[in-house]
Amino acid sequence: MTAPRLPDTAPARQAAAICARLREAGHRALLAGGCVRDLLLDAVPKDFDVATDARPERVQALFPRTVAVGAAFGVVVVVTESGPVEVATFRAEGAYSDGRHPDSVSFGDAEADAQRRDFTVNGLFLDPLAGEVVDYVGGLADLKAKRLRAIGDPGLRFREDHLRLLRAARFAGLLGFGVDPATAAAVRRDAALLATVSPERIQQELSKMLLSPRRAEALRRTSDLGLMGVFLPEVETMKGVEQPPEFHPEGDVFLHTMLVLDHLPPDASLTLALGGLLHDVAKPATFQRADRIRFNNHDRVGAEMSVAILQRLKFPNAVIERVEYLVAEHLRWKDTPNMRLSTLKRFLAAEGFEELLALYVADCKGSHGKLDFYDFCVSKKAEFGVEKLKPAKLLTGHDLVTLGMAPGPKMGEILKALEEEQLEGRINSRDEAMAWARRRL
Ligand code: ATP
Ligand code: MG
Repeated sequence: MTAPRLPDTAPARQAAAICARLREAGHRALLAGGCVRDLLLDAVPKDFDVATDARPERVQALFPRTVAVGAAFGVVVVVTESGPVEVATFRAEGAYSDGRHPDSVSFGDAEADAQRRDFTVNGLFLDPLAGEVVDYVGGLADLKAKRLRAIGDPGLRFREDHLRLLRAARFAGLLGFGVDPATAAAVRRDAALLATVSPERIQQELSKMLLSPRRAEALRRTSDLGLMGVFLPEVETMKGVEQPPEFHPEGDVFLHTMLVLDHLPPDASLTLALGGLLHDVAKPATFQRADRIRFNNHDRVGAEMSVAILQRLKFPNAVIERVEYLVAEHLRWKDTPNMRLSTLKRFLAAEGFEELLALYVADCKGSHGKLDFYDFCVSKKAEFGVEKLKPAKLLTGHDLVTLGMAPGPKMGEILKALEEEQLEGRINSRDEAMAWARRRL
């Protein structure tokens, strides 16, 4: 097997230079893990990790700028011009008794370091100087066959670290690989163990899925492998929830949700992707057969459910607030032609509006395909321009004081009413605003 060529980028050159320096000093040094897998798949690695037989103290002595981030586990960060590179000493792991961390680690050789990794395609090394792939785990054959396979006994590996269950779904989905039958069976059998993993670690895996253009495929695998119900039962129960066929020819709520995720822009932000995932999360709970199938209030209920779900997974408040907005507002489009001018302007000027618009497009494409309100909103937004959407304030509290008003809550009400008049286009200058305020007082 000829080794893939390193890309001609600064991070790749820096990582290769670190390997060269370690080699000069008499050590073995290899690129390891995800970057080797990605290079072999012709994908651009996110970062380059180095594995070596040099001990952490030795790595620190060989490079001028280092940070001992996890010296106990043998991980030292070497700071280079183009950013940090993780240099990890080859290690073997002891038994796991908590389903999270090894009880002990010991420094070992490259082969032992490959054996401790999760999947064969993540267990490959690349010697950048010799130009050679080093494969102790059959990872090359699995890469070629597009197969995700646990290293060693799958049941044992998943019971060691329960997060690997979810990582299996992530890598299978994002790489578009099949899961080896024994590995898939082990995930399904022990899926419930995922419940013991901390919300922060689950959040990180979920976010990596959602930030990829293949997000829907990763989530379908998560569900197929029996994992979705363990940490996101609200999404799992979307399966089989019928929708009115005249609006949703595509099928049930789960199918629709996955299609929406597929129709988001490939580089959608985390909040937009979470909005796509959760916009219809209240449909199962609000399902009703009336004149037709209806999901009354699923926007409002869904926004509340989204907050609870994202808090449970420990997402930051700024993320939660934005997703709450997207879910709460995702049906307002049909009101836009009848909105009062001030309401329409506030709707179009909202902080997350561009994401709401992208969600709307994906929501339509993932169902009936008609984009009724898109042109209307986009042209209105362009027509108003920034000045009319978010006009500068015409008066301040100070102005009201000069007119003889005492400071207090009433002042806020007056300023709010003035903003309304301004957005409605009835007051357009400071003089008009002063005259209006005089009359009000
Ligand atoms: P990504 O592109 O998502 O970063 P990656 O393969 O680099 O993919 P990381 O989570 O960054 O994944 O981990 C780097 C490497 O460390 C993996 O390729 C794998 O070899 C090993 N690894 C990471 N997490 C685990 C784990 N929980 N159990 C075993 N090995 C792991
Ligand atoms: Mg990585």
